[in-house]
Order: sequence, then structure tokens, then C-alpha cells
Amino acid sequence: MTTRTIETHSLPAAGMANTRTLTILRYGARGNRPKVHIQAGLHADEAPGYLVMHHLIETLDRIDAGTGIAGEIVLVPVANPIGVAQWRDDRLQGRFSFSDGINFNRSYPDLAATVADSVRDRLGDDADANIRMIRKACGRALDQIRPADEAAHLKLKLMQTAHDADIVLDLHCDCQAVMHVYIGTSLWPEARDLSAWLGAEATLLADDSGVTPFDEACSRIWWRLAERFPEHPVPPACLAATVELRGRADLSHAMAAEDAGNIVRFLAGRGFIQGQTGSVDPPPLKRQATPLRAVEHVKAPTPGVVVFRKQPGDEITAGEVVAEVVNPLPSGAAERLHPIRAAADGMLFARSADRFARPGRILAKIAGKTPLRAEGEDLLTP
Ligand SMILES: [Zn+2]
Repeated sequence: MTTRTIETHSLPAAGMANTRTLTILRYGARGNRPKVHIQAGLHADEAPGYLVMHHLIETLDRIDAGTGIAGEIVLVPVANPIGVAQWRDDRLQGRFSFSDGINFNRSYPDLAATVADSVRDRLGDDADANIRMIRKACGRALDQIRPADEAAHLKLKLMQTAHDADIVLDLHCDCQAVMHVYIGTSLWPEARDLSAWLGAEATLLADDSGVTPFDEACSRIWWRLAERFPEHPVPPACLAATVELRGRADLSHAMAAEDAGNIVRFLAGRGFIQGQTGSVDPPPLKRQATPLRAVEHVKAPTPGVVVFRKQPGDEITAGEVVAEVVNPLPSGAAERLHPIRAAADGMLFARSADRFARPGRILAKIAGKTPLRAEGEDLLTP
């Protein structure tokens, strides 16, 4: 017998006679531990996550009917019902809200100060008791928030669903990219099994990317409270990660089934599938994790069309030409072709999908080893 339940939540109407719903699938009883939360399509125009969800549901249905789910697994297969309706000029555009231009994966609630006030006199020496208390305080803090609009309501609902999970995976993709993962520095190297199972070719570490994406809103509170209360044990109790499932067009049943299988193997190793805890060792990590602060944003110096000289996955040496920007109109003494060189060694893990440049536009991202920016600066792309 399946334990799977399906819940729908209505978002407040953003237009007359027009409400949207968020659908949540749950395996195992609500409140069972451990808990995992996986969602796809927060950036609604990123297709691979939806297909991984399709295969994940098939696999979890099978497991649920067989050996069983150990705790609670929550899936939000279409996490952004607002963004999936944002068609313009025959293109789905689900990264920024059409209403206010805000990125759907930025500016999630930062609960650290509120929760610190609520638990400061009650924390003790028992780490598990502290974890339970902090999770409850997070839930109460979220319940106090009065969202101003539909998108804020969606963000709050997703946080309310995920904030007390042991594991949170937010499935995304880049434009053209290899598999990569963003995760808190404080969660590393304990989370290396996630990157290893996924076959991530880059793992990018930051405790504060400066813009509070969903995964960080779930996990960062734990190390913020640990810093605040060094006299009490406060472990990083939420392993939250943004998983970038390669590029936008990297979509096939074979790839998505493999990715879904790898997520399940990761969960099995972590004890979420009954009778399979640690039954299989993860494969070797493909590439060591590097600081998000060391990601070089390769920017266009001038307008034109972009000719890439490097592919996602290429190792780059400082000074090598990554791309050229070509403007067929010469202006004065300016050259028609501008080579763009990498500033530091690293691996090109993502690049833009179209081939147009304007000054300052980020064309490619290179995972280097030496920090280029400060923690807490805006470390992500718009
Ligand atoms: Zn995304």
C-alpha cells in the first residue's frame, strides 16, 4: 500500500478570478524523521528538473510499495506555479517575476535573528534537543510572516514545507553547463556523497552568497546560530543544496533516470530507504570542491556576437582565450574582434546559451581555487 499523499495549496489571487495552486507529494507520514525535501522548477524555465522529478516519482512509488521509505520524503515537482505561466514571445521565462522583476530564487526569509532571540535562554548541551527546538522556532517564525504578494506567499509556503528537513535539494540548471552543485562551506566535506553520487564536476562552497537563495535560507541559519551560541552544540542540521542539472537543453529520459537513480542512491546511503542504509559506497568525487568566491565571471567587454573557444568542462589556464566578441562594424581604431582571456586557472563549468554580448554581461563561469571576492558579496549571477 502506498503512503504517498498529494496536497494542493492555493496561492492568494494575483488577478481577479485567477488563483494558482502549489502541489506537494509526500511519502511517509508527516512528521516522520528523517525528512527530505526535493523541489524542481523554482526557476520555472529550467526543464531538466521536471523530468528528473518524473523519474524520481516513478522510482519512489516503486520503493514505497516495496521496501518502504524510512522517514518522510516531500516532493514539489513544480515549485513555481507563477513562473510556469510566464510566456512571452513564445518563450517560457520563469526566472524573474513578471510582476516586479525579482528572481524567484533570491531574498528568502532570513530567520536567524528571530530564532536566536527565541531560543537563547533554552539551548542546552544536548545537540538533538537543540535541533528540535530550533526547528520549532523556525516554524513559528515563518508562521509570523505576512507575505505581501503572490510570489512572497509562494516563497513562504516553500520555506514552511522545507525548513525542518534534514536534506533539501533544489533542482535547477544553467544555460550550457556540466553538472554542478552549490552548497554551504559548513556542510563540506560531510556532503561529499551528494556531489559524488550526482557526478558533479564542480561543487561550489559558500556560507553566504549574499542573496539568500532557497537552499541557503534553509541551511545558513544553522551555522549562524552556531556562531551566535558557541557554548551550545548546534550542528548544521540541514544539508541543503542547489543542484544544477547541466544545461537547459540537456534533457533525455536516460539522463534524467540516471540522475533520479543517483538521488535515490544518495538517499539510501543516508538511511532514507528502509533496509538500504549505507548499502552502496558512492563513486569517487570527480573534482574537489572550490570556493564560490573563487568563481570567475567572464564578462563581455564590448557589444557583439560571442564565439566560444572553450566548452563546459574544459580546464582553463590563466591567460587563455575563453571566447571572442565580434562586432562586424569597426569603430575608429577599435578592432572588430575582442578576445576574452581567463584571469586565473580553473574549470569552465557554465556558459551562456545565446551568442550575444553587451558590456558587462556574464558569458561564462570558471571554477577557480583562489578567492576573487568576499563572502557575503553577491556571489551569484542575476
Ligand atoms: Zn535556476
